[in-house]
Amino acid sequence: MSLITRARASLVDLEVETVRTDAVQTFLKQETIFVEIVTGDGLTGVGYSYTIGTGGRAVLSMLRDHLVPMLPGRDSRDIERLWSDLFSSTRATTVGAITSLALAAVDTALWDLKCKRANGPLWQVAGGFRPSIPLYDTEGGWLHLSTEELVAGAAASQAAGWNGLKIKVGKPSAREDRERLLAVREAVGDEFDIMVDANQSMTAAEAIRRAHAFDDVDLAWFEEPLPADDVAGHVRLAQSTSIPVAVGESLYSIGQFRDYLERGAASVVQVDVARVGGITPWLKVAHLAEAFNVSVSPHFLMELHVSLVAAVPNGQYVEHIPQLRAITTKEMTVEAGHAIAPNTPGLGIDWDRDAIDDRTVA
Ligand SMILES: [Mg+2]
Repeated sequence: MSLITRARASLVDLEVETVRTDAVQTFLKQETIFVEIVTGDGLTGVGYSYTIGTGGRAVLSMLRDHLVPMLPGRDSRDIERLWSDLFSSTRATTVGAITSLALAAVDTALWDLKCKRANGPLWQVAGGFRPSIPLYDTEGGWLHLSTEELVAGAAASQAAGWNGLKIKVGKPSAREDRERLLAVREAVGDEFDIMVDANQSMTAAEAIRRAHAFDDVDLAWFEEPLPADDVAGHVRLAQSTSIPVAVGESLYSIGQFRDYLERGAASVVQVDVARVGGITPWLKVAHLAEAFNVSVSPHFLMELHVSLVAAVPNGQYVEHIPQLRAITTKEMTVEAGHAIAPNTPGLGIDWDRDAIDDRTVA
């Protein structure tokens, strides 16, 4: 009865809810790749993945041409086996972003089924540590905002009860970045976390220089200072500053996280459930980080990450960037600056089927 009878993939374009810029890119639209899996006992699992504007059709093609046809007839409960078989079948294109994003859409659909079959919410089925997770804001910290707008955004985040705000850095001069951060610190006081994010835009030398320039801002973390494949540069930076170094949104496999952790190059792990290939590898990365006494604060996708951070003991923060409001009927619950993991069986995301159909482009 748990055998897969049907599966399909589709692509939905979502307009961005806020203009978002950082040191290297603008978030144009969310290409949302859905996978729907139906089993013999009548259950339907819905999974998804995303890009911020490019490559969505490549992910869809990987699914339609290759991965989805492998699913019918397989037992939906054999998630590890399915993940492994799908991964192995794409050997010529793994490890890679397109394949990981495609695997994630399948894997999250299988976990939706697993939770529905267990009649439990994801946060408990995946581990069950605590349902309430501190939130920090990112929407008030984009690089194109003026210092005045940044300060106003920080005050608004603080008033809304968030525990911190992430600010993009990477202005041409270190002095300008520093002045923006100090203005925000002045406005929010000492008891509010400020994170910074360079989106891989710096050389190791420049990141080390800026970390020193930011020293008296008291930062919670310095995110993606360098290109993600420069592990040695991250090691040098981590050894030269007391600011925790955060990485993970641009890593696509468990092994890449292992390299960072075993070399002491990451103090905060920001594993993204879509980019790492789904809930199955996400949990392994979170547990691996726990073994290294490192916390997890995943990148984006708050609607799904709230349940995953709630599942593990080393979860630190959920990033508040709402992006599914146009295609869901219920928003993530927020109480006193904390995200509350949904208690309904499955992933806990209430999809608006009509709104999804309206926005389906392939
Ligand atoms: Mg980031």
